[in-house]
Amino acid sequence: MATPSFLPLALPVAPLSMDLFSEVVDLVAVLLLALGIKGLAKVRSARSANGLAALAMALAVVGLLIEIRPEPIAWLWIALGTTLGGLAGLLTAQRVAMTAMPETVALFNGCGGMASLLVALGVALFNSGSTDLVSRVSIAISVFVGTITFTGSIVAMAKLRGWFDTPGWTQTRLRHGLNIFLAVLCLVSAVLLPGDPSGLPLWLLLGGAALLGIGVTMPIGGADMPVVISLLNSYSGVAAAAAGFVVGSQLLIVAGAMVGAAGLILTQVMCTAMNRSLVAVLFGGALGATPAVGGGGKEAGYTRITSCSPEECAMALEQAERVVFVPGYGLAVAQAQHALRELAKLLEGHGVEVSYAIHPVAGRMPGHMNVLLAEADVPYEQLVEMEVINPEFPRADVVIVLGANDVVNPEAKNDPASPLYGMPVLEVDQARSVYVVKRSLGAGYAGVTNALFELPQTAMVFGDAKAVLNGLLSELRSLGVGRSKVAA
Ligand code: NAP
Repeated sequence: MATPSFLPLALPVAPLSMDLFSEVVDLVAVLLLALGIKGLAKVRSARSANGLAALAMALAVVGLLIEIRPEPIAWLWIALGTTLGGLAGLLTAQRVAMTAMPETVALFNGCGGMASLLVALGVALFNSGSTDLVSRVSIAISVFVGTITFTGSIVAMAKLRGWFDTPGWTQTRLRHGLNIFLAVLCLVSAVLLPGDPSGLPLWLLLGGAALLGIGVTMPIGGADMPVVISLLNSYSGVAAAAAGFVVGSQLLIVAGAMVGAAGLILTQVMCTAMNRSLVAVLFGGALGATPAVGGGGKEAGYTRITSCSPEECAMALEQAERVVFVPGYGLAVAQAQHALRELAKLLEGHGVEVSYAIHPVAGRMPGHMNVLLAEADVPYEQLVEMEVINPEFPRADVVIVLGANDVVNPEAKNDPASPLYGMPVLEVDQARSVYVVKRSLGAGYAGVTNALFELPQTAMVFGDAKAVLNGLLSELRSLGVGRSKVAA
């Protein structure tokens, strides 16, 4: 069968100098990617690190083009693919709401899985005659992991978008039976595939892995879905590394391995922060799907609630010396980050010490609050991590909880019966005066009541976070808070 022009394996041997040049470009790309991933670990460097990683990707493409020197007709496909892919990425990045980020990441993971799958399929179907055993085993891995990543990610995205709920039968033992059958089918096909790379085992593996991806992801509840997305991200890296072995690209192997390892570490960090084991997430059924995906939920069980108006809250703020804001998912929903920043600036001008308490899984993805507040130019040094801010809560005069619920629930520390028990939380209950801004007494993501709301030092300020913050701003201004700074 004719060799396709887009596969490096099929290319004529390049002159040494060009090969060397392409290897140097690849090496620089790998180094930049590693630096980019490292920089993402810190809020301050995350934005530029993302730029570095994007540059690494662009260099990787350049390195590949130097290496394979495509025929003229292939340039057309490359230009078309780059333009369409680039435009789709750009438009998605510009338009997607922060609250829709988990499903966007799921979609991108799915695309990564599909790309690796297509590379392996291309070699299996058109070039398997000239492949060695390592490539053939890698084809099996890439097809299996790439397909699971693709279908699993699409299901994850669809569930997070609310396009369908968890079907009842997936919560029965039947699902385990079906998944075990599919896993065995995939294993047998994968073992047979190296002997017949373009025959029946390939198609059985493809079909089995596609159904297995759906079968494993479908029963998982919304609350656990971001963990699964992180795991799928890791899979997309594994699939890419395997595709790297298939086409003999060191760059793809290294980049895939980095993504695979980073995704796995993130999965572990998220499981720890949510006090969930990965096994429970993957095989425990839709535990987190219950009441309140995305906020809302029941308002049951409260008997000692104190509520107050923004006017009273503003008076407390006006008197305070130290104020801690605790942002949560509701702040992102309300898109109130700019109003919050404005309020903080007003208070700082009044001599108040302001900080923001950041819980690792506040919101709907790791780093959600950091990104949200960075959007409003909140200084990085005011974002304080949970371990550092917790001992500080007793020293705060006023704590304002903005659309956060589970991450400030003291039952996670005190009530072994609570589904949140064991999850590290922000110890807001240790503060002298707490105002909780939310629209109702509705539950958070975990769907449980929150003992914080009934504590004697807590007052609820009911309303949309943005409306309440704007109310606080105008109340403080009417108390003359902004004017004192101007006078000074
Ligand atoms: P949360 O527990 O989901 O609570 C959010 C609260 O925001 C709700 O109780 C809701 O109450 C309120 N809210 C919604 N819209 C609002 C608006 N427009 N204005 C004011 N309030 C609004 O949020 P969280 O405390 O940030 O906790 C995050 C949860 O997500 C945790 O359970 C965590 O385990 C889970 N999770 C996080 C991640 C991650 O990586 N970050 C991943 C998976 C799961 P009302 O409806 O009454 O307003």
